[in-house]
Amino acid sequence: MKALIDKLAEGVSLSDGELGLLIEGGEGEYLRERAEKVRIAHYGREVYLRGLIELTNYCGNNCLYCGIRAGNRRVRRYRLSPEEILACCERGYRLGFRTFVLQGGEDPAFTDSVLCPIVESIKSRWPDCALTLSLGERSRESYRRLREAGADRYLLRHETADREHYGRLHPAAMSFDNRMACLYQLKELGYQTGCGFMVGSPGQTTAALVRDLRFIREFEPEMVGIGPFLPHGETPFGDRPAGSLTLTLRLLALVRLLLPRVLLPATTALGTLHPEGRELGILHGANVVMPNLSPPEARENYMLYDNKLNTGAEEAGGLEELARRLEKTGYQAVVSRGDHRKP
Ligand code: SAM
Repeated sequence: MKALIDKLAEGVSLSDGELGLLIEGGEGEYLRERAEKVRIAHYGREVYLRGLIELTNYCGNNCLYCGIRAGNRRVRRYRLSPEEILACCERGYRLGFRTFVLQGGEDPAFTDSVLCPIVESIKSRWPDCALTLSLGERSRESYRRLREAGADRYLLRHETADREHYGRLHPAAMSFDNRMACLYQLKELGYQTGCGFMVGSPGQTTAALVRDLRFIREFEPEMVGIGPFLPHGETPFGDRPAGSLTLTLRLLALVRLLLPRVLLPATTALGTLHPEGRELGILHGANVVMPNLSPPEARENYMLYDNKLNTGAEEAGGLEELARRLEKTGYQAVVSRGDHRKP
């Protein structure tokens, strides 16, 4: 196993069988150490902060795993006004954030003519900040307009690179091909692009995870979002078990070795799964955390899964607590845009 980990770290291309063995386990501490070493070589002990603003929990999609799916009638729906969004950025800027992430469900109210002026205002008021969007699948034209308005980055998890598995996680109306096409369009338009997947989503096999790693290697995204699947009681997968902590950490480390310069968040889902999940993620190669800047009412209603953390170090106001916790882990939260470092 150590030899396989070394091969991956040296950039040798591995067979599906070898990748499968790496995913399935063994020598966890050795893998962690190698991933941490690579992360330190490229990014030192810095952890980049992103201020997450959850714009809307209206969503036209019905992803089987997601708490804000259109079919969940129990969600109290909200959408932030442009003024509320700018107020979140204002507060975030004062707290030290230099990247804002606007995330939301696929809400038809956020047309380009609503979003572009918001993007333009954020970029003109805080020109030293990076702006990331995570608003799901849109047309190429829409991505182009938003990019022209000033958006720098776009996060769109591919969710799974296995077509059949994708079909089990999503209703027939959603298309694997379109999601993948969106990712290539984003990249081509010059966004720093992020893909990603949940660990332990229902029906996920080692073969599907091998496909995820292969896709990530080929696509070479600037960012990869990986977190455990966590059940939400009001979804068709409400009684399925959560993804495993060990496997999530293992995949973070493998992705760090596959793409040494990737921006890799220790996600809220990881922090929700385990009280020290965020710190463990950092120790396994992650270099980004995304505290929540949304107003409290929004945070309470953007429940993608049960018990989603939204206070303390998870909330932007708890930045000192977060910084203290990272410091105890041997890392340092930094005020910076935290761009991807090109070779
Ligand atoms: N609508 C946008 C999109 O589809 O990319 C962004 C918002 S979506 C809620 C953000 C991410 O939340 C998804 O890509 C998915 O991986 C994650 N997510 C949704 N439900 C989840 C669950 N039950 N457990 C863990 N992660 C979940």
